[in-house]
Amino acid sequence: MSSPTSPAAVRRFTTTVLGTARIGPHRELKRAIEGYWAGRVSAADLDSTAADLRRRSWEELVTAGIDSIPVNTFSFYDQMLDTAVMLDALPPRVSGISDPFDRYFAAARGNADVTPLEMTKWFDTNYHYLVPEISADTTFTLRPDKVLSEIAQAHGAGVTARPVVIGPITFLALAKAVGDAPVPITRIDDLIPLYTDLLDRLVDAGVEWVQFDEPALVTDVADGLPELAHSVYSRLSGVSRRPAILVATYFGDAGPALGALARTGIEGVAVDLIEGRVESVAAAPELSSKLVVAGVVDGRNVWRTDLDRALGTLGTLLGSVGDLAVSTSCSTLHVPYSLAPETALDDNLRGWLAFASDKFVEVAALSRAVRHGRESEADAFEASRAALATRETDPRLRDNAVRTRLAAITDADVTRGDASARSSAQAVRLGLPPLPTTTIGSYPQTTTIRKARAALRSKAIDRAEYERRMRDEISTVIALQEKIGLDVLVHGEPERNDMVQYFAEQLDGFFATAHGWVQSYGTRCVRPPILFGDVSRPAAMTVDWITYAQSLTAKPVKGMLTGPVTILAWSFVRNDQPVSESAFQIALAIRDETVDLEKAGVGIIQVDEPALRELLPLRDAAKPAYLEWAVRAFRLATSGVSDSTQVHTHLCYSEFGEVIGAIAALDADVTSIEAARSHMEVLDDLNAVGFANGVGPGVYDIHSPRVPDAAEVEKSLSAALDAVDMQRLWVNPDCGLKTRGTDEVIESLTNMVAAAKAVRASIA
Ligand code: GLN
Ligand code: ZN
Repeated sequence: MSSPTSPAAVRRFTTTVLGTARIGPHRELKRAIEGYWAGRVSAADLDSTAADLRRRSWEELVTAGIDSIPVNTFSFYDQMLDTAVMLDALPPRVSGISDPFDRYFAAARGNADVTPLEMTKWFDTNYHYLVPEISADTTFTLRPDKVLSEIAQAHGAGVTARPVVIGPITFLALAKAVGDAPVPITRIDDLIPLYTDLLDRLVDAGVEWVQFDEPALVTDVADGLPELAHSVYSRLSGVSRRPAILVATYFGDAGPALGALARTGIEGVAVDLIEGRVESVAAAPELSSKLVVAGVVDGRNVWRTDLDRALGTLGTLLGSVGDLAVSTSCSTLHVPYSLAPETALDDNLRGWLAFASDKFVEVAALSRAVRHGRESEADAFEASRAALATRETDPRLRDNAVRTRLAAITDADVTRGDASARSSAQAVRLGLPPLPTTTIGSYPQTTTIRKARAALRSKAIDRAEYERRMRDEISTVIALQEKIGLDVLVHGEPERNDMVQYFAEQLDGFFATAHGWVQSYGTRCVRPPILFGDVSRPAAMTVDWITYAQSLTAKPVKGMLTGPVTILAWSFVRNDQPVSESAFQIALAIRDETVDLEKAGVGIIQVDEPALRELLPLRDAAKPAYLEWAVRAFRLATSGVSDSTQVHTHLCYSEFGEVIGAIAALDADVTSIEAARSHMEVLDDLNAVGFANGVGPGVYDIHSPRVPDAAEVEKSLSAALDAVDMQRLWVNPDCGLKTRGTDEVIESLTNMVAAAKAVRASIA
């Protein structure tokens, strides 16, 4: 029997990270899970792959010099889902599935009978979590099997394990109420006994420290979060039998929540000193008796740490904290594993970067330097200094032509002619029928397309052959659209692997990694480009494809570009200048492309900004400034063309509430917007902010394989016509078609065109 612990007596660790990636350096977990889904991998083999990945990741941390190892940051899909399982809070539609893996994966991705949990972005990262559903009937029961078994595995391997569990506030703040249940956070008192029990079980398991992740505390998602933090952690720390408690705040400045936490009996707080401010620590005098885990190494971006600067920050903290440990700012889930496979990097660029394995080493070096002086780590500091010094002189980081051009930009450069004058000029030029029909850009990415891309990569075919095959695809897609009877055609985007990477590969200032995979959700991984320098466009990027498509038809073909905010949102961005600067540089490159398209005779140009909402800051106070530069960047990108050129934009993936004013301010001539699932409410929202330009609310949901019939689309269109008059209304699906099959696309679009014609006839 263990006696009641006295957490104050526990060993205070010095060196850690808040969490690590789990997908595996070679995406081993992805392969194992997908193999399991396909029936090729047994549950036992999946478990052993997982155990092996955990063990290797702990070993790497120990070898790097980390003395408190985060455990339970492994997941077969998502840590929020794991927490829902731990609290026995899966919805009834899956809770009856008896096999644990089947149940878990049904909640994550659905099966033939059940729809999965909704998925949404984890704060302002590119990771997506599953949204727990809390209904009035949800009862919570502690099921700590996963965390306990991972602790047991770690202890068996001789690892000093610090289990990481999502805290009750963040769990509920990010969950959604279903049915007539009140907002989930009102259930907080129901969770306290479970977390109390968990603490007790962790003592039994021989745990010294537990980490509760509470990133919700850096946001304004709910009122009164600091007070809630105080109340919850006063109660949890008041429990007599428990390990020491570390509450981790990350992705921003915890502000007043930091003081609130410090005034409870918990032993430690982790603070993000990349996104947050060191002053916030000094402002909470009660931290002078706590362990502060200082996140001075960026856990979510790819840059090498300026060790001198980080040590300076740590030095400032020493006076205001009880004990100091060095850490990453957040889990390294968000960055690639290792730079080793990036053989195409030049020395300068390699020197500026640090992927996860480098960050572990940086944390350890800083920790030793705090305790033994900078001299003890002289080599590491010298290497950091030397690498970063080349950032001052590398010409790719300061392109004077770009900077001079940007400095000369005035409001006139981000303003087009009056919207109604534009609309008249475009009507004359384009001669479109009322309720014009179009699509969002991409057509199905067929196996032929993917094979051609793979063949080009493996050098089985040359560039010319690849381009010939892509032109074939384009002519097929043009012929298809003519046959269906669409009014505004697209080239179908066959040549684009990804709407951001495609442009990043052609712009100066970006580097595309060979193997820099990060988990986006579940087994889906992405390789975000790295924006490291000043951005410019060495040559036109899309003109040949679009003009080829236009040469095949008398109908107008839209040029297709990705907007500056979306390019930034889906890349790792440089940290040596405000992101708005990078946004304006990208905007100039896109602007040049629009002007070239116009010169080539293209009359309609679409600049997609599906990620507009994604970069919205977590704190309310910072939102207006973001929206201002985001809108300005879009307008800079699109205001270089004449009034008779029609500018479209496209938005999707989100609730538009907080950005609706910004969408109107983009001042695109036509905005196509996801609406099929929100039943056209977005039109009322746009009306409410005075938006009067063209709008194409998606009339059917492309995320589902279901084919809408014409009557259904007609109904959507009539609903839309209640909100906007027919001169403004466009008819289109709610997003690109690249993930769909060709047959269903033909059927759906045929029905959509028939519906548009029927509605036109009924109006005439
Ligand atoms: N033009 C892009 C496409 O159709 C837009 C994709 C998106 O909105 N995410 O695929
Ligand atoms: Zn979309």
